[in-house]
Amino acid sequence: MDNLTSIFREKKLKLTPQRIAVYKYLQSTKKHPSAETIYKALQLEYPTMSLATVYKALKTLVDVNLVQEINIGEGNFRYDGNVHPHSHIQCIVCEKVDDVEGICFSNLNDKIKDCVDYEVLSNQVYFYGICKDCQKNSKE
Ligand SMILES: [Zn+2]
Ligand SMILES: [Zn+2]
Repeated sequence: MDNLTSIFREKKLKLTPQRIAVYKYLQSTKKHPSAETIYKALQLEYPTMSLATVYKALKTLVDVNLVQEINIGEGNFRYDGNVHPHSHIQCIVCEKVDDVEGICFSNLNDKIKDCVDYEVLSNQVYFYGICKDCQKNSKE
């Protein structure tokens, strides 16, 4: 909790219970939940928190770079408590999103310089596939 207090202070953010709850939830999961999933997960502990409040807390946390917003396609936003650059893979069957670990695409920023007139700052690489569980299910 001390850690969180100093993180929020550094970002000049007011430490509201809603922001703390959303931030802590995202730190506790690697599942890249949607705003609605977060809302449902927190409902038991925070019955008065509305979906709009969850959206607002998420927006604030994304703005100060404590949370990463990932747009996996079709306006389907997911949220990630890990803000270090990393790639994602989504299962096209069950729609779960996993981190791609052990490979870094930041060298792509250099490679693309020959193709565009931009100063390249970052990139997002998304992969799509069928997860292990869904592969198993389709064989049964
Ligand atoms: Zn799947
Ligand atoms: Zn991630």
